[in-house]
Order: sequence, then C-alpha cells, then structure tokens
Amino acid sequence: MSWHHQNLPDYPWKKTNDPYKIWLSEIIMQQTRIAQGTPYYVKFVKKYPTVCSLAKASEDELMKMWEGLGYYRRAKHLHETAKYICGELDGSFPENYKGLIKLKGIGPYSAAAIASFAYKEVCAVVDGNVNRVLCRYFGIVNAIDELKTKKLIQELAQKLIDRKQPDSYNQAIMDFGAKQCSKAPKCKQCVLSGSCYAFKEEKVKSLPVKNKKLKVRERYFHYLDVNHSGKHLIRKRTSDIWEGLFEFILIEKNNDLKLSKSAINKALLENGISASFKLKAFSKTNIWKLTHQKIHGNFYKIEIKEKIQWQNKQAHKMVSLKELRNFAFPKFFDEYLNNIE
Ligand code: SF4
Repeated sequence: MSWHHQNLPDYPWKKTNDPYKIWLSEIIMQQTRIAQGTPYYVKFVKKYPTVCSLAKASEDELMKMWEGLGYYRRAKHLHETAKYICGELDGSFPENYKGLIKLKGIGPYSAAAIASFAYKEVCAVVDGNVNRVLCRYFGIVNAIDELKTKKLIQELAQKLIDRKQPDSYNQAIMDFGAKQCSKAPKCKQCVLSGSCYAFKEEKVKSLPVKNKKLKVRERYFHYLDVNHSGKHLIRKRTSDIWEGLFEFILIEKNNDLKLSKSAINKALLENGISASFKLKAFSKTNIWKLTHQKIHGNFYKIEIKEKIQWQNKQAHKMVSLKELRNFAFPKFFDEYLNNIE
C-alpha cells in the first residue's frame, strides 16, 4: 500500500464510490487493456450516468456503443443486469458480496471489487494481476487453473487483506500486479524483492503456472453482401460469438474454398430471397483472432437487380451505405466496410 501511494495511477473510475460506475468499469476492463477500455468507460458514463439510463437504452444502441471492445456477451449481461436493478431493485445495487454475486454477469472477482470499493466490505479480489503477485511472492507452484489452487489463492488473499482499508488494499495489489509485478516485472526496483520467493529462486519467468493449453478452433465464414437498389442486406446475430451484432448473410463451411453459384443461391433461398443474382466481387480472406477461435472471413458482393420476392423479411433489413455505419458490426468487418464502393 505504501508502494501504491507513490505510484497512484490516475484512472477516471478511481475517484468514485458509486457502485454503478465501479461495476461499469469492472465489466469494461475485463479482458481489456486499460488504454483500450478507458475511452469506452468515459463515453458510457457520459451517455448513461445512472444505471436506469443504461437500462433504458435499446440493445442496438448499446451494442453500437460497445462496438470494437469485443466479448459482446458482457454488453448483453450489462444491459440485462441494469434492467433488473432498475426494474426490480428500484435502481439500487445490492450492498454486499452475497447480493452482488447473484447478478447476471457478475462473478467472484467483480462482486469482490464492487463490494470492497463501494461498500468497504472485506472481500479480497483475485484477478490475473493478483494471481501473478501471490504466486511469485509466496512461491505457489501449482497450476492456477486448478480448482484447488484457486481456492488456496482466494484464502490466502482473504488473509492478507487490510481489514480497515479493504478498498485501498485491493486497489494496491491489483495495480502492483499490473505495473510492478507485471508480465515483464521490474524485480530490481521492487520493494518486495528482499523477501520474494520467485526472485530469490530465479523462478519469476516460470510463475504463475498454467496447465491448460488453449485450443483454438478454426472457422471459415463466407459472407454475402447482398446489394439491391443501392442498399445492403443485413441481419442481427442471435447466438454464438458476436451475438446482438449485425452481419451479412453468413454461410459457415469447413474451408476457405470459394462458394459455388449454387451454394450462394441455396443460401439466398434459405434467407427467404428468391431472385437471380450476379457475383460482382470476392474479397481476399481476412483473418480475425479471438481467444479460442480463428475466423477466416470471405466476402462476396452480390448484386440483385430484379424485384426481390421475399418469403420472410422479418429477420433482415435493407440499409443504405450511409446507414450501415449506424449498426454495430464485429470489428472484423471494418476493413470490408471501409472499402465498400
Ligand atoms: S521481486 Fe519481482 S517477482 Fe517478486 S514481487 Fe517484486 S516484481 Fe514480483
């Protein structure tokens, strides 16, 4: 904590004890670098200063605000939880860990962060930064993705927490892990180096230990950008990655081989479109990497001149090029959308 006093990072969400703003910052910052997440936090607080203003936003508007931040399920849960708090709890957050953890999208880490920062409850936070500090300093050599180790670290963190200033302690250890005992730690200038296990035993690089190797799934997306009377056909994703965002008609295959005309025709019919078409252009494959998936994306510009006989138009929208940017698309679409003529 004395290290923290001298190295106090100045983030906009540090100056508040409003549980709504703390919650917002915690959800935005999950799996996100601070430099990337901070502008999102600032624009969210400006547009939605209270939990009820967030609850009243439309899903499409919220997704547009979240566009580019990734892990879109977070935005969906954020919205659902805001609606629940506004509608069922009169706009007030539960005031302790037990109540907070019951809310959708709030796990042990976020519940502990909100409980300690907003209400000074003695709840130790354990995130990636805290794991790193504790494993290195105390020499925890067991894999941190094993349940037993998780429990051990949580108990250790709970023993270490400053009971009078749980908020300052949690913030200090998280910032210490992010700034000092980071992935590239500054051990020689560290106030803990004299008693740190990993430093003494030269195990800094090997701690913490992780067991699981990430399996990456390769996926091949073929998108049909259907053009008709100067408009583009879009639809909303209702499941899977990027749920709630917009896209073109998608055909998923198990390879990058270009679609045949009959495969395109079949996809159009499945989307309720019965019309003859021309394939005007085909984009090179774009690659987009997610934590567990690698997406190979191919775009086909399809032109339909004749009047479309819709079998079912409900799920689709026809929008002009200008309007296209009002909808939230996966970031992966940027290159294609920026080059549409
Ligand atoms: S000495 Fe190095 S490994 Fe140990 S706590 Fe300090 S920064 Fe982390």
